[in-house]
Amino acid sequence: MKYLDLSAQYRSLKPCIDRRIQKVLDHGQYIMGPEVNEFEEALADYIGVSHVISCANGTDALQLALMSLGVVSSDVVVTTPFTFCATAEAIAALGARPVFSDVSPDTFNLCPDALEKSLNYYLRIYGSRLKAVIAVDLFGLPADYQSLHSICEKYGLYLIEDAAQSIGSSINGDMAGSFGSVATTSFFPAKPLGCYGDGGAVLTNDKQLAELTRSFRVHGQGKHKYENIRVGMNSRLDTIQAAILLEKLPVLNEEIAQRNSMANEIRMVLEPLGIDSQVIPSEYSSAWAQYTLQINKRDEFKKKLAASSIPTNIYYPLPLHKQPAYSSYHDANVDLTTSELLANKVLSVPINYELPGALKEIGI
Ligand SMILES: *Cc1c(COP(=O)(O)O)cnc(C)c1O
Repeated sequence: MKYLDLSAQYRSLKPCIDRRIQKVLDHGQYIMGPEVNEFEEALADYIGVSHVISCANGTDALQLALMSLGVVSSDVVVTTPFTFCATAEAIAALGARPVFSDVSPDTFNLCPDALEKSLNYYLRIYGSRLKAVIAVDLFGLPADYQSLHSICEKYGLYLIEDAAQSIGSSINGDMAGSFGSVATTSFFPAKPLGCYGDGGAVLTNDKQLAELTRSFRVHGQGKHKYENIRVGMNSRLDTIQAAILLEKLPVLNEEIAQRNSMANEIRMVLEPLGIDSQVIPSEYSSAWAQYTLQINKRDEFKKKLAASSIPTNIYYPLPLHKQPAYSSYHDANVDLTTSELLANKVLSVPINYELPGALKEIGI
């Protein structure tokens, strides 16, 4: 059993994708060719936002969003420690300070109550240097934006949605990628909407923010190519990747519906055994980037599955405040116990139709 079979998806879309790539090779506009704009518009339409600015990867997307919001090296940005390192890395790469707030034990996303508590504490220490909160939609499940939004509004902070894992998911029909002041995503191949290389995007309804991001994306470009009005980045989505994404976007909903039904079947096997999975609250739908369960005797369980050729992964074995690169940002007065407990208990399993049968067979 494969953990994730990206080649199966390619096989089913091969004629369309091959044709689209060939078109790019024929017209030769490899950088910012017409497919880039076409894809940005298609994604904006799908998510229901006014502006999509594509870029080179999801880490750059976070950095571009922070730059466009005016986050500078003296600033402080709050985020979850239970995420892929890029979320905190983008903050630190700007010289700003990432600080952490704990997650909920059921959804694995930022806990609104814990956020309010930690914001009170961080505000006492950092005052007006505190600028923004980055929420992550972990494993495909959107964070609790209704609560997070009102908390950020109350404290005058920007809210950024890191939707790298959640394109295609929604809350009450509102799509991930549309929450907060600005959202970012990644098209890394294994993400719900993946290309065949690196890619990412910034999404927003704010016209001014979108214009700034477009400028930052190409060396802080002004009115024309050789006018540089700010220090920016070189972070564009390749035309070939945009062409691939244009063929993949129309089948995303179908793919997610399939993953959703497979996830339900997996849950039906695990639940009677008393094994908890990430909780998807009602009104929420997940893009099922990962199916993640919590298990006390994780090593034993992982070995048992491995013996039957069932691959598993641990996302994430170490919360960011325990990582050598980020531990110095941690403040021991802020309680991050839930993230620490989760890091010791989570195990992600393959999302496919063979898994429920295979689990039953080994009699777990
Ligand atoms: C993958 C990921 C990123 C970074 O995306 P890249 O395209 O790999 O740079 C950022 N945040 C989260 C939560 C991710 O899962």
